[in-house]
Amino acid sequence: MLHTHFEQVQSQAVEQDGAQGVSVRWVIGPDSDAPNFHLRVFDVEPGGFTPLHAHPWEHEVFVLAGKGTVTCAGNQEPLAPGEVVYVPGGDEHQFRSDAEQSLRFICLIPASGTCAPAAPSCGAAPNCSG
Ligand SMILES: [Zn+2]
Repeated sequence: MLHTHFEQVQSQAVEQDGAQGVSVRWVIGPDSDAPNFHLRVFDVEPGGFTPLHAHPWEHEVFVLAGKGTVTCAGNQEPLAPGEVVYVPGGDEHQFRSDAEQSLRFICLIPASGTCAPAAPSCGAAPNCSG
């Protein structure tokens, strides 16, 4: 069993093209040897955004704190704490924080997506060997 506090996991800047002010904690990632699902916690600084991107796997997102917007398949909607977002595989998507407030959310992906070429656009996995 792995049991920890998310703040015990080091936050990494997402330095992918198209990302600004984004950091990610792989709270359950490749280092955890979880075979099927990886869980990340993202922090987006005020005015920041994840890259506008798409990949074959879905995202399952739970907003923990802050304000922002999600764009998915051309639709843009506001985000608030407690809200959930399902981004279907293949849909182009982006998460933006509010200009005044940061945005914190959980994002689940399949472990098979972690090391795929498109994965760094959602936050590079630590110790990903391919
Ligand atoms: Zn994504």
